[in-house]
Amino acid sequence: MPPSRATIFALSSGRPPAAIAVVRVSGPQAGAALTALIGRVPEARKAALARVGDPANGEVIDEALALWFPGPHSETGEDVAELQLHGGQAVIAGVFAALGRIEGCRPAEAGEFTRRAFHNGKLDLTKVEGLADLIAAETEAQRRLAFRQLQGLIGGRAEEWRRELIEALALIEARIDFSDEADVPENLVEPALFAAQQLRSKIAARLADSGRGERLREGLVVAIAGPPNAGKSTLLNRLAKREAAIVSPYPGTTRDVIEIHLDLNGYPLTLLDTAGIRDSSDPVEQEGVRRARERAAAADLVLWLTDASATGAAAEEMGQTPAGAEQWMLRNKIDLVAGSGPSTEPPSAKHGINRSFAISARSGAGVDLLVSALSDFAGNYFGTTETAIVTRARHRRAFEDTIAALDRALGHCTSGQEELIAEDLRSAATTLGRLTGRVDVEDILDVIFRDFCIGK
Ligand code: GDP
Repeated sequence: MPPSRATIFALSSGRPPAAIAVVRVSGPQAGAALTALIGRVPEARKAALARVGDPANGEVIDEALALWFPGPHSETGEDVAELQLHGGQAVIAGVFAALGRIEGCRPAEAGEFTRRAFHNGKLDLTKVEGLADLIAAETEAQRRLAFRQLQGLIGGRAEEWRRELIEALALIEARIDFSDEADVPENLVEPALFAAQQLRSKIAARLADSGRGERLREGLVVAIAGPPNAGKSTLLNRLAKREAAIVSPYPGTTRDVIEIHLDLNGYPLTLLDTAGIRDSSDPVEQEGVRRARERAAAADLVLWLTDASATGAAAEEMGQTPAGAEQWMLRNKIDLVAGSGPSTEPPSAKHGINRSFAISARSGAGVDLLVSALSDFAGNYFGTTETAIVTRARHRRAFEDTIAALDRALGHCTSGQEELIAEDLRSAATTLGRLTGRVDVEDILDVIFRDFCIGK
């Protein structure tokens, strides 16, 4: 159970003023709160029109729809009351003041409703994360991934695997407990280890997705790199269709990494302007350079931008490419080069360039071709993500720890080391249990609920 059984209330809808404001109340006093504010507790799960009054002075605050969800069949598992008010500041303030005067009622903390739902067994931890992701989802593919998780995709799988492990463990424990008795079959250990081996392969297969689920959650990282004045900020602005970066004719003005989020056909892409990447003696700029390098080092695609109107082979100025990243060459400012038009050019094997484009970030020529290529890149990258279940580093770690424990179990001799095998299988089961929050998770709860807003 949660640390305190206070009744909590919060605004669960968006920032006022708005057409409607949804105020939720959860806890033992939720029924009393309805009685105090609307004079009755309406029929369960049926919307009721009601005058909301302030019990302190009898004044009517608003007319609202009231809903009553008695526990345990409510979202939090507790008694829940919901008022759908007119979404004005003063209306909400009036209702909050009235609720605050009810004994045992207090404003909710961020994520507290969901936290109670978790403690009451309404959601497992992976569903809590899915809920947070669904609220944060910016693109269609992210929404689909989050929704699948909220439906229990990863949690269900982890529970299934945990049950298989416990069955294997039971065989080993039977062998240990009855080792002296003649009628216990000798070969209990073999089938248990076989099951462990099978499970190991299943989990390993889920991990072999190169982090695509995590990437889908966070966005594919595309770094725009190149020498000062090549037009990186201008290109970023054009791609973002808004003023995100400072565009200036003087080199080195973009000191920090600027990032924008793009939605390309439903797939998320994070674009980084690494204009600061160059050597400098200015300490502020050096810090910008360091941060830019760090972010760019994790990029999935690097767009090397060069000034086609400048003399000198731009490719020579290219810096370090992140391991595994694809590289595209963009020859910019073709509007300044006589006889040059927008194009996409064959890849050049030199410098490991995968594709080349000729563009003008200022006029926009060639940028459509670039955007559609980026869109294809994201589509190809995420095309196989429909089955991804690992969406966070936390999940990956849990599965890796499970595999490590299974490997230890499989490494023991099959006879005489039953105790050791059992211990490692137990530890693998515990790791899977932590993933869904079945066991021992107080320490990770704060991290997960940190991302929630008040009223959720
Ligand atoms: P960054 O240092 O790489 O971020 O470069 P900026 O985006 O700040 O651009 C440097 C200068 O080049 C600015 O004056 C831009 O207006 C100009 N510029 C950028 N792209 C183009 C282009 O395609 N054509 C022309 N003619 N000028 C451009």
